[in-house]
Amino acid sequence: MAARPTPYLDDLNPAQREAVEALDGPVLMLAGAGTGKTKALTSRIVHLLNTGRARPNEILSVTFTNKAAKEMKTRVGKMLGQSIEGMPWLGTFHAICVKLLRRHAELVDLKSNFTILDTDDQIRLLKQLINANNIDEKRWPARQLAGIIDHWKNRAWTPEKVPSAEASAYNNRGTELYDQYQARLRELNAVDFGDLLLHVVTIFQTHEDVLAQYQRWFKYILVDEYQDTNVAQYLWLRLLAGGHKNICCVGDDDQSIYGWRGAEVGNILRFEKDFPGAKVVRLEQNYRSTEHILAAAGGVIRGNEGRLGKELWTEATGGEKVRLIGHWDGEEEARWIGEEIEAMQGGTRGMRAFSADDMAILVRASHQMRAFEDRFLTIGLPYRVIGGPRFYERMEIRDAMAYFRLVVSPADDLAFERIVNTPKRGLGDKAQQKIQMTARANGVNLIEGARILLTEGGITGKGAGQLRALVENLDRWGKMTGHADVSHIELAEMVLDESGYTAMWQNDKTPEAPGRLENLKELVKALENFDNLQGFLEHVSLIMDNETDDGGAKVSIMTLHAAKGLEFPVVFLPGWEDGLFPSQRSMDESGLKGLEEERRLAYVGITRAEEVCTISFAGNRRVFGQWQSQLPSRFIDELPEEHVEVLTPPGLYGGGFGAAAQVESTIHQRAADANVYNSPGWKRMQARAGQRPVSQPREARNQVIDLDAVSRYTVGDRVFHQKFGYGAITAIEGDKLDVDFEKAGPKKVVAKFVMSSED
Ligand code: ATP
Ligand code: MG
Repeated sequence: MAARPTPYLDDLNPAQREAVEALDGPVLMLAGAGTGKTKALTSRIVHLLNTGRARPNEILSVTFTNKAAKEMKTRVGKMLGQSIEGMPWLGTFHAICVKLLRRHAELVDLKSNFTILDTDDQIRLLKQLINANNIDEKRWPARQLAGIIDHWKNRAWTPEKVPSAEASAYNNRGTELYDQYQARLRELNAVDFGDLLLHVVTIFQTHEDVLAQYQRWFKYILVDEYQDTNVAQYLWLRLLAGGHKNICCVGDDDQSIYGWRGAEVGNILRFEKDFPGAKVVRLEQNYRSTEHILAAAGGVIRGNEGRLGKELWTEATGGEKVRLIGHWDGEEEARWIGEEIEAMQGGTRGMRAFSADDMAILVRASHQMRAFEDRFLTIGLPYRVIGGPRFYERMEIRDAMAYFRLVVSPADDLAFERIVNTPKRGLGDKAQQKIQMTARANGVNLIEGARILLTEGGITGKGAGQLRALVENLDRWGKMTGHADVSHIELAEMVLDESGYTAMWQNDKTPEAPGRLENLKELVKALENFDNLQGFLEHVSLIMDNETDDGGAKVSIMTLHAAKGLEFPVVFLPGWEDGLFPSQRSMDESGLKGLEEERRLAYVGITRAEEVCTISFAGNRRVFGQWQSQLPSRFIDELPEEHVEVLTPPGLYGGGFGAAAQVESTIHQRAADANVYNSPGWKRMQARAGQRPVSQPREARNQVIDLDAVSRYTVGDRVFHQKFGYGAITAIEGDKLDVDFEKAGPKKVVAKFVMSSED
């Protein structure tokens, strides 16, 4: 057969080409962001197919997300110039393992139609076991046990294999309960997420014939984002590649960002040991970003120790410097980014015009998305949230909104159903059925139904007391709406606290719980832009209505974690403030592990940008209606000055508290804060890096500025309100101000929601 043309090879540089053409034996491609690792991996698949080395179903390729898998398939098809009839083994570890496990379920005592439990089911099952074992679930929460078991599964430890060093886990009962849990899952013919890999690894380890069959079948193995594999995934790969050793892994140690989920960057370092004679290819040319963006990213990542170290270069000289801007607060940051996006669409920033599809906002914590979603809705800027639910779709937000809906409208039965037993009030299915039946029999809504049921004594025990409390609370909260002494914000906080909803998440020990609490705070913050709960609820229903995808261009909003492997011409990186990014947890930790992972995340963020990268921070963030002063992120200090352009923030901040001045002072002289910089990790790092000494504790940090101080204002003062803009105070009455707004006209506003324009 005549050799087929290989035009796709012409698009590669010599190092990439070497990695693509070295089809046999182990290959490790270790290179920085944007150097074309994924491109080379894709070309390698094409080359395998094109040279007839393997058929599509004989290639095993692992990607990090389903989205990445889909994209790779499309690209392979394009490069081949024909649609490939399926690549069944191109997908995430989990997707591939589901397929394998269905084929061999009986080898681990399952049937092939096993169900995959979601987290809720998993927790419910664990709770049953905990109760059956007479363990106090309040002291030893099921979620904690779930976390431990997950960790063990990530390390490929079946109950028998959990090392004795772990024996003290979960009050010394961890291993025993893990064993019971696995047995129960088998009885139910079910698996949890972690089992998918664990079972397949177990099958391979205990059934040589099955392993041998797949070792032969998968002629070539390819793995993207190798730096984020955990031990179980690593073992799985090593087993499958054990025969022919035709395995090609690509990764970047500087982009390892899943350590918190059990990923082991050490897997990269072990590769050459496990596969002696591996060809190691390093790529140094970056094809994605301009020189300024690359240099900025390089400047930040240099702060990490123990890197493999790579130099990157690009032909894309010139271009925009990385833009840095400080804002008064988070809302202002969102407003500015919204305006900037619109200006960049219009091409009025001295750059080419960009489409909304070209732009992405990458946040550290998902609660940051709220401000952008709200703002974009207000100005009618289409957006999509990638890799997770939109803010208002999140479980805890929907729960909280259900409470608010009931307060405003007691007849909202759907809302009642949602929260009647959330948090748990001992009102299970039976009790709920009784409420439903009573309501229907009497032709009333569920709250009234519950009231009748209680009067008739149709419900007894612990549940009755709790139901009574709920009904009474709802009545009381309802009466408070529109009450002059209680703002809708205070009411919202009251509802979340008194219903026990906030406490439910405070007592929750899962890794997601802190994020959910943050989201709840963020929800209350969102209320500040509205005059009452009703208006807010309408706003949210509009957002939810805005969901359908019309195929038009949209700005992408996602977390930095979800942005891995992606690229955008224009990237916004908001919220670069200590405590937010790097996260408070990483700064509190002793040792540098957490902080270094955050720094890698910063590197991932900057390197997503092709042409324009804008980093921003806010001087203040509002938490429950109070201002908390923020320090710009320490990572901002690590940006090389010559590659950064400091933008002047909009008018308000020109004088007095000048955010621009703050940016300057941040870059030139690090403001210090005793609380933060006393952490041992930070001191060690400072000492090592020989950076300028940290001095002058900055008192502003974490200090709550109470804008309730009405006495600050006198009639005639010029003030600024988030929603109404500038205006002059015409009268002061208690904590309410009459303000004649320049654009919005005269309004009565609460003092704590305006700021003096002198600030
Ligand atoms: P990351 O580490 O972020 O995952 P990566 O190393 O996988 O990055 P790719 O996404 O494969 O990098 O490539 C980055 C960009 O550079 C893509 O737009 C790709 O098409 C382009 N590119 C890669 N190699 C070349 C090349 N040899 N010539 C021209 N463009 C290239
Ligand atoms: Mg990639």
